[in-house]
Amino acid sequence: MLELRRVVRRYGGKIALRGVSLRVRRGESLSLIGPNGSGKTTLLRVAALLDRPDEGEVRYRGDPQGVTMVFQQPVFFDTTVFKNVAYGLRIRGRPEAEIGERVRRVLSLVGMEGMEGRRVRELSGGERQRMALARALVLEPELLLLDEPTSSLDPPNTWLVEGIIREAERECTVVLSTNQPFQAARLSRRVACLFEGRVIARGSPREIVERPRWERLRRFLRGEGW
Ligand code: ADP
Repeated sequence: MLELRRVVRRYGGKIALRGVSLRVRRGESLSLIGPNGSGKTTLLRVAALLDRPDEGEVRYRGDPQGVTMVFQQPVFFDTTVFKNVAYGLRIRGRPEAEIGERVRRVLSLVGMEGMEGRRVRELSGGERQRMALARALVLEPELLLLDEPTSSLDPPNTWLVEGIIREAERECTVVLSTNQPFQAARLSRRVACLFEGRVIARGSPREIVERPRWERLRRFLRGEGW
């Protein structure tokens, strides 16, 4: 579904991605792990077709409208939950009755039923993050990209959000980034480890997180540097 070939992305003189190749099949779930600054967000933005690579290629076999990314710090309109979640459907010209129905259904999926009329600024951090997921899921994406979806959440909200992501994985292809390797193992069938703009290891959660064979990867996962 998605293929990146030797993707290079620079910000001024800084190189954020140094030749990344990755393939994601339809229906697959992939987690990107790696320390801060290793290029996870940049890679997601390129995969979401929001940024073009400076070198290399990105191929997406599907409708680019079917690609949705949830940012680490989502930006909302200062209005109600309903208007925020409905917005993407409105600009796609869906009829009001359908919008109402889909917004209700997705709010129930994220554990926010009946909260349509609440103002976003009155929501807790966890509710806001779940609303950001609702806003993406209501579009029924083919490819969903999530940038550190639980990084600012407490354990109960993390648990809720992981459940929502697992539900989403039944319907669409999910690529997410996380700085918690065991979260990657819980949520994805494949894990890729980034370091300084390169994919340094990839495989199953068992190979990469639970029983990494490579001593350098073990040290890295223990937080002892590279
Ligand atoms: P991660 O998501 O793994 O923390 P990022 O993709 O955000 O990593 O960043 C990769 C590298 O690119 C970092 O060194 C970061 O400082 C740099 N970078 C990211 N975005 C920008 C930007 N808009 N301008 C300049 N440098 C950036």
